[in-house]
Order: sequence, then structure tokens, then C-alpha cells
Amino acid sequence: MTTIDYREFYIDGGWQSPTGPGLLDVRSPTTENTIGSVPAASTADIDRAVAAARAAFDAPDGWATWHPKQRAEVLDRFATELEARASETSRRVALQNGMPIWLAEQFEGGFPAVLLRYFSQMMVDAPAVDERAGFLGGTARVTRHPIGVVAAIVPWNVPQAISFLKLAPALAAGCTVVLKPAEETVLDAFLMAEAAAAAGLPAGVLNVVPGGRDIGAHLVEHPGVDKVSFTGSTVAGRTIAEVCGRLLRPVTLELGGKSAAILLDDVDLDASLESLFGVTFLNNGQICWLNTRVLAPQSRYSEVVDALTGLAESLKVGDPLDPATKIGPLVSARQRERVEGYIAKGKSEGARLTTGGGRPAGIDQGYFVEPTVFADLDNNATISREEIFGPVLSVIPFADETEALAIANDSEYGLGGSVWSADVERAATVAGRVKSGTVGVNHYTNDPVAPFGGIKNSGMGRELGPEGLHTFQHLHTVYLPPVG
Ligand code: NAD
Repeated sequence: MTTIDYREFYIDGGWQSPTGPGLLDVRSPTTENTIGSVPAASTADIDRAVAAARAAFDAPDGWATWHPKQRAEVLDRFATELEARASETSRRVALQNGMPIWLAEQFEGGFPAVLLRYFSQMMVDAPAVDERAGFLGGTARVTRHPIGVVAAIVPWNVPQAISFLKLAPALAAGCTVVLKPAEETVLDAFLMAEAAAAAGLPAGVLNVVPGGRDIGAHLVEHPGVDKVSFTGSTVAGRTIAEVCGRLLRPVTLELGGKSAAILLDDVDLDASLESLFGVTFLNNGQICWLNTRVLAPQSRYSEVVDALTGLAESLKVGDPLDPATKIGPLVSARQRERVEGYIAKGKSEGARLTTGGGRPAGIDQGYFVEPTVFADLDNNATISREEIFGPVLSVIPFADETEALAIANDSEYGLGGSVWSADVERAATVAGRVKSGTVGVNHYTNDPVAPFGGIKNSGMGRELGPEGLHTFQHLHTVYLPPVG
């Protein structure tokens, strides 16, 4: 197979040579072979990218000063160029991180253009001024302004969609951006940069500089950055929050999760199984909001365990580029080691493995782990408390709704969740008492209209919806005197 290789960065609206000799090799988690390479950013490259974003933001006639309609026209062209590359974007993501291709087409090929148009339109429709009759007389004239240069740092699991949760509102608001993709998923990021160049984004508005943690840390601390938007692990998020606290730099953090699916006693299991797959094993178990704790009523516990065991066994494991594949490999050997460590822990703590737990038979390369279900354990088991980030479920029994909610809410995290019932309103009432940022009823979808994000160790701030736009704006008030 020919490899995909880049030797320049997209900085300041063009392709620029790296300052250092470093290269990032990208390996397929399916074949373990090298599939491409890009230059690794040095701190000097980050400095150049921030300087370009800073100049583009500060210019008297720069991006920030454009009318939202003008920005929307450019971002619509960007969306069109991304759509033209959607199938190659999906293919690259599937090649790099093992995401099944049908899912990559939805999340990675499709969603970025939707987000660009959604946030551009929101800016076009937003009133320029919010005039408020003063409570103490006079008038308060409130306006919103782009916050400045944004450092966007993203993980490898859903790289394009997560990038555009940040890029779309930031660019629509008039901010300029330095994007640091994760080392594992850079080839899709460079394709995105090609789309930006083809769309004619003004120089410096978007800059793409890949590298590891140190490069990310340099970007977070950079004096030219006004706002940090981070998605990744809770450990890294905590470090970034500390730095931003010291600098008094606004920061949004989308971090890890250990969400619960609550199956109420009237759930129609057969009708729910396909959607339950979508909240448990999706993307090989590598999504932050997945419901890796499944809470089942005692009265139907063995039925639920059997259904999930059957579901896991029915999933085709294999090459993510095969449209029939439901479970691809984990992103790396290190990630597989971590997941296998948790499976060993589940067994050693006495949970009952009902299916999976090993590497799939007949596949002798790639970082695959079988879809795995553990039963007869409670919420105190290590695998019920810690984020595994792999296809491993804990099925936990509960006596009644009160206990189900107590278990669901007994977590360091609070990102997603779901409630399943034949009675949608009953489920919605229970969902309203789940302590997390988002909860689905009989399904789970991150709709662009509504805020997405977490509480507790799952992060701070929100993406999507008007709330997601507002994190890239600062507020300005002019107090007008009373008339007469
Ligand atoms: P990670 O935190 O190791 O890395 C994420 C990104 O941050 C990478 O680009 C990395 O290079 C960079 N980075 C790491 N440490 C940094 C630091 N100190 N300063 C600046 N940049 C730094 O996470 P990961 O292992 O790549 O991703 C998996 C994690 O991401 C999981 O915990 C998952 O739950 C979380 N995640 C959260 C969401 C969400 O929306 N809440 C979405 C996807 C993934």
C-alpha cells in the first residue's frame, strides 16, 4: 500500500517547512504497518502558528471584523471542500484509529460540514446588539465579541467531529485557531487543512500543527493564546486547567466518562438492542460518553445479561474498512494493554465473564479485543468505576428506580447516560435525575442544537448549541444614561 506522507505544515494560509527534522509515523492498528507520516511540530513551529493566528485576529480588517455573513460564505466553501473529501477523510480515520467505516462516514466525513453551517447560520441570525432596559434606569447595550486566538487540542478517537465541535463555533464567531491533533490521527487533519486552503480561508485563520503532549503543553501556555478548548483525558485536563488557572485563561474541558444505561423494568429489550449497541460498543468502546455500566432490574437481570452477551457475540470483529465490521481494533498496542489489564482486574475481583475477554480467534495482527461483558458485579468493582476506553461492559443489578439512580450517580464522572423504558415519559423523569451533562431516552444522539459536556471529572463548559458558541465570545456592556 502506498503511504500518505506530508512534509510541510499548514500555517498562515500556506504550506510551510518544519523548523525541525522530527517526523510522526502513523501506524494502522489493523495491520500494524506504517500508513503515512507528517512532520512533528517543534515549539518553534507552534510559535509560528500562534503568531499567524494572532496576526490574522488582530489585523484591523481581519477575520474578527468581518460581518458574520462574509465569514459564513467562506465557511460554507470550507464545508463544501470537506464534503468533497468526505470519503477520503472517513477512510483515513478508519485506517488510523480503527473506527468502523460506516461510523466514520457519519461522524468524521459527514458531521464537520453540518457543524460549520449550523454555527455560521447561528452567527448570521444572532442579533448584533442586545439592548436591555435598565433595572436602575438607562439602557444596557450588550454585545458579543470573538474571544481571540483559540488553542484547540483534540484526541484520536473521533478526531474530525471533535475538532469541528471547536473549529465551527470558533471560526463562525470570528476567532482564529491553532489546532493540535493527536499524534495517532494526523492524516485526516492534513486533509482538513487541504480543504481549508482550497476554500480560501484567509491566512492564519486556521493553522494545523501536530505533536505530542509537550507540544500541546507549549501551546496551552503560549502568551499569544486567548482561550484553550481541550478534549481528552481527565488527567491531562486537570494539568491544563491548572495552567489556565494560573494564567487566568478561559478553558473548556471535555474529559472522560463512565456513564450508565438504566434499563427500567418495562424495557422492550429486543426492540432496544440495536440502539443499545450505539451506547455501549460504538467505535470499539472508544467514545467518552459511552454507557459502559448497564444497570438492569433484578427481576430481569439474567435476561439483560443474556441479551447483551448475545449482542456482543453477534458483532462482527475485523477490518474497519469492511462495511460489515461492527468492532475494529483498538487504537494502539498500549491501549489494548490497558484494556486487557482491566479485563484481568474484572476477573481477579470476582466478576463473571459472560463473553469475550480475549483476542478474537483467527485474527493474528492488529490490536483487537473481543467485545466483553461482565456480570455479577457491583458498582464498587474497579471496572465499574474507571474509564476503560474499550469494548468492556459491567452489567450491574438494581432493586428499584431509587437504587438505579443512586448507582448511576455514584461516579466520579458525569458526561452521558441513558434510560430505557416502554414509557418515554417515565424514562424522561428518571433521566432528569441522572447527574450528568447529557442523558438519552431509548437512544443517544449529540444533536447540534443542545449543549454537550460534563460535570465532575468529565469536565467544565459546554460544546454545541448557542452555549458552545458563547464560549468563544466575550461580553461587552455599555451603560447608556436615562433619557431626559
Ligand atoms: P490525552 O489526554 O492523552 O490526549 C488528548 C490530546 O491532548 C492529545 O492531542 C494529546 O497530545 C494532548 N495532550 C495530552 N496531555 C497534554 C497536556 N498536558 N497539555 C496539552 N496537551 C496535552 O487523551 P487520549 O488518550 O488521546 O484520549 C482519550 C481520552 O479522551 C479519554 O479519557 C476520553 O474519555 C477523552 N475524550 C473525551 C471526550 C469528551 O467530549 N468529553 C471526547 C473524546 C475523548
